[in-house]
Amino acid sequence: MNPDEFRDWSRKAAEWGADYRETLRERPVRAQTQPGDILAQIAASPPEAAEPMETILADFEEKIVPGMTHWQHPRFFAYFPANAAPVSVVAEYLVSAMAAQCMLWQTSPAATELETRIVDWMRQALGLPEGFSGVIQDSASSATLAAVLVMRERALGWQGNKQGLSGQPAIRIYCSDQVHTSIDRAIWVSGIGEENLVRIPTAGALRGMDIAALEAGIAADKAAGFLPAGIIACVGGTSIGGTDDIAGVCAVAARHGLYVHVDAAWAGSAMICEEFRHYWAGVDGADSIVFNPHKWLGAQFDCSIQFIREPDSLVKTLAIQPEYLKTHGKDGIINYSEWSVPLGRRFRALKLWFLLRAHGLEGLRKMIRNHVRWSEKLAARLAAEPGFEIVSEPMLSLFSFRHQPPAGSDADRHNLALVNAINDDGRIYLTQTRVDGQVAIRFQAGQFETTEADIDSAFKTITEIACRRHENG
Ligand SMILES: *Cc1c(COP(=O)(O)O)cnc(C)c1O
Repeated sequence: MNPDEFRDWSRKAAEWGADYRETLRERPVRAQTQPGDILAQIAASPPEAAEPMETILADFEEKIVPGMTHWQHPRFFAYFPANAAPVSVVAEYLVSAMAAQCMLWQTSPAATELETRIVDWMRQALGLPEGFSGVIQDSASSATLAAVLVMRERALGWQGNKQGLSGQPAIRIYCSDQVHTSIDRAIWVSGIGEENLVRIPTAGALRGMDIAALEAGIAADKAAGFLPAGIIACVGGTSIGGTDDIAGVCAVAARHGLYVHVDAAWAGSAMICEEFRHYWAGVDGADSIVFNPHKWLGAQFDCSIQFIREPDSLVKTLAIQPEYLKTHGKDGIINYSEWSVPLGRRFRALKLWFLLRAHGLEGLRKMIRNHVRWSEKLAARLAAEPGFEIVSEPMLSLFSFRHQPPAGSDADRHNLALVNAINDDGRIYLTQTRVDGQVAIRFQAGQFETTEADIDSAFKTITEIACRRHENG
């Protein structure tokens, strides 16, 4: 592709992107294809001869787009959002065009220094105290893995990487039963082993760890010769928004010399609004915190910020050339690849810089406040509707509900069938979870383009389809 062609096709791609965003409302939210439909349309072997771009782009529109689920759709109420505000897409285009590897300061000084500045902007935006620095990881899963590796190394006197885990006392990590599966994976990958992830039962409306049970569990483990290393606390769990008492967790950790990592991957974005910060009161006492601007805040995936109180412990765990430690943070030279498991790194700070400047914190706060308010209103409307029951009250913009099955039919089967029918309908997209073993339907509002009318449309769709299913049995 010569420079003129590159210019031409880049323009066409930008045109396509703008048309796509403009017409999203007319498309079904979840892909309406069957497994294998798309695979069957793609040539089984790679081409020997070059093909014209016209053909390639036409195939993209014809064969790929119909098999996409539209995460930027204003009526996407499933999972958690993966917002990509248009301004962050523009920044990503520039990043793609430069395609720099940002692993060391000198491999792109601007990427490193902007990352340092933007992480600090976000620290201020979230109301975190000075003294937290941080890094932009690809995902919360990577950030949590990095934190668990620090817990492990710290507990083993920084000898785990060298000596391995055999012959060491079993390391123990504590969390609630509401944490994301990325915690399980971090425990597997770090060699700690799932049996050493101690799940503390939860209590209260927010489903946080029972602090007395946490304390007792750690004491019992110590007495039994285990090596407690850290606690992973959760603010806004994926299922129904389970949230730990962070101050209580940090107090227990301080008594036992344990590391605290806070997973606020989704809920962290809401902390730009002061009125929601009570959900993580005490977070100042954590050793690290992860939150994903690529979820609610609007930064194109991937963009996950890990705030860290003592970056030296992270660098000590992950840097492969320890002499770099000596310059860390002293003369402005940070090599962020020493703060993460992968070596290669994309330039992730640019899209956040663009996003924060184009919307301003006030613009982003307004969006988040609307989502929370609209969700609360929808939960209240559903609660007042015959046959509907709120299973978990709104935690920020997430709640779950259940619909009563016709007499004599199974509630789980009925609600699973209801979710499927709603998603086959295409107007909105929802997902399910289990609460105390029983199926519940999740709802979260978090899309950039969502309006209050879209929430009304969710109410209409849910009640209409539930009513229809009831009549048909
Ligand atoms: C989404 C989510 C994760 C995983 O995030 P990735 O960036 O996809 O790894 C972890 N924890 C919570 C609470 C989440 O909501």
